[in-house]
This record gives sequence, C-alpha cells and structure tokens, in this order.
Amino acid sequence: MSLSQKSWDEFPYPLVISLYSPKLRKHKIKALNQSFCQLLKLSEKDLLKYHLEDIFGNHFNNFGLHYLNHLGNTYYLINVPWGEKRKLHIIIAERVWLRFPQWFHTERLASLGKLAGEISHELKNPLGGILLYSNMLKEELGSNQRLQEILDKIIALTTRCKIISKALLDFGKPERGKKEWVNLNDIISTIYNLVADYQIFKNIKFIFNLDDKLPLFYANPTQMEQVILNLYTNAAEAMKGVGEIKTETKGKDDRIVIRVADSGPGIPDEILPYIFDPFFTTKKTGKGTGLGLSICHSIIKRHGGMMKVDNLPTGGASFEILLPLATREALREDEF
Ligand code: ADP
Repeated sequence: MSLSQKSWDEFPYPLVISLYSPKLRKHKIKALNQSFCQLLKLSEKDLLKYHLEDIFGNHFNNFGLHYLNHLGNTYYLINVPWGEKRKLHIIIAERVWLRFPQWFHTERLASLGKLAGEISHELKNPLGGILLYSNMLKEELGSNQRLQEILDKIIALTTRCKIISKALLDFGKPERGKKEWVNLNDIISTIYNLVADYQIFKNIKFIFNLDDKLPLFYANPTQMEQVILNLYTNAAEAMKGVGEIKTETKGKDDRIVIRVADSGPGIPDEILPYIFDPFFTTKKTGKGTGLGLSICHSIIKRHGGMMKVDNLPTGGASFEILLPLATREALREDEF
C-alpha cells in the first residue's frame, strides 16, 4: 500500500501511521498528515515525539472502528494494518461522519447485524429443545429435591441464553414497526409497571419528574419502550439492585429531553467512549450481551435524535435522550 505525499497531505481527515511498542504498550507516531497537525494545532516535528495514547488515551490497539473523545468532541477512529508492524489510523469528526452517505454506516451495522441474526437463528431451535426437554424431565422427576434444583438451574441458564439470542436477533433485524403519535410519559409508566415487581427492581426507589405538558412524539412505541427498559435494566444492574432511578422528561423549545439517572457507581471514564459500541460489555461472560446501549443508540438515531451519557457529580450515570419535535422523518412513516 502506498500513498503519494500529495494525496497523503490532501486527504481531508487526520491520518497517522504508528508503530506499537510492546514495552511501553503505546503507539509511537511514525508519519502523519497536515490535517492531523491541524487537529492538534502542533507541528509535525513536535508530533513525531508523541505516542498516540498520550494524546487520545487507549484506543489504538484493536483494528476496526472506534469512538474517540478528544477535548469534548467525538471522533470516529478507524484502525487498519499498514504493512507488517504499523497501523494506519484515520480520525473523522463525528459531525462530518454523520454527513457521510448513510450507507457507509448502515453497511457496517448491516453486516454485523446479519451475522448476529444468523447466529441467533441457529441457536433458537436447540435452545428451545433444551428448554422443552428440561421441563419434561422436571415433570417426570417428581420429588427429588436436589435433581429438581439442578434442572431449575439448567432452565434458568437456558432461558438466559434465549434472551441473549433474542437480543442478537433484534440487533440483526431492528423492528421496522410503524410510527404513531405517542406520549413518552406513558411509555415510561408502562415500563415502570412492567419492571417494578422484578426481583432486581424490588429495592430500587423510582423517582419521576415528568413534564405533564410534554408534547406528543412521532415514534415507534415498542422501540421507545425498549430504550427505557434497557436504561432501567442497566441502571438496576449497575446498582446491584439497590438505589434510586430518577426519570425526567421535559418539552424544551423544539425538542423533548428524557433523562434517566441512577445512584450507582457511574461509568469509568476510560470506557465512556465505548459503551454505545455493539458487543461492548463489562458484565461477566454470560451476563451481558453488550448490545443494549447500541440498540438504544440506533433506535434514537432512527428517530432523528441523539443519546448522551454523563456521570453525575454525586456518582451514578445519567443518560440523556434528545428528540427533535419536528423532523422530516415524521412524514416518512412507511420508510421507517
Ligand atoms: P450490557 O448491559 O449487555 O453490558 P449495554 O450496551 O447495555 O450492554 O451496556 C454496555 C456497558 O455500559 C455495560 O456493560 C456497563 O459497563 C456500562 N453501563 C451501561 N449502563 C450503565 C449504568 N447505568 N451505570 C454504569 N455502567 C453502565
């Protein structure tokens, strides 16, 4: 692979080639273009002394697409191999990226989604079989307490697998339901009523500060419910079932704001840039799919909105959803 100096310098986004030092566990800058110098407002000579990790944090190890936060701005970072030992990194500001033809992004999600859908499909029948036979066995077993307990565990774990498999399927084929005018306060109440009795929510105090003049929003209700459910479930899991979840809604100028904040430990700074990535999870193997927030993010984006996360000064994570009140999307019901 080679690039002429001219095309290298004229490439409109920051490009940098790095060499990894296993000893320092950092990527030393080996070559860069003008856009990269402009991004950091430093000269090439100065920049060649740096390691990428010192400037941006730890985002350069894995190939593929990543999010990067630098001085309060979000960037998309693409890491690709460059020769045997080097890596090429392309950094594109999020606001620019979002203007790229839609296919670039959807293409990537679509191929990931296709794989996810296929895996889920392959798992569905065997998992259903395991559940069916376990339940049959349970009936046959009668009063053998110990074996009953073991079978209950098998059933619970298999059910968990089915939930993960369903999440994979949803990721692969996000429901393309119809939009209608919905009251988001009602969606929040529906989900609260659904979860309030679940074990993990039993010791959680829900606080609501809902705007009673909240305008209606043109949305797919099931998808909106899924977003709130994911946020509540994540909050409850982060708080290990004990704490507070505060939900606020507000109609503000031309948009609706929904905020879901918890009193849990918050999200460590080093993982904040990744939490919306598909398959990113800090939960133990088998506990998290890493798809929840990625699905929420794409649902909100499909409704023309955006989703942000912050840690509260008092501890706890706060997710904010901004939804535009008047979007052209609203008029394109069936394309949704
Ligand atoms: P999963 O829940 O399967 O891990 P998600 O995409 O929903 O996948 O979440 C990704 C990660 O974001 C979680 O593993 C967790 O580390 C972090 N996270 C999400 N919500 C919260 C929260 N309310 N408090 C702390 N960490 C959170």
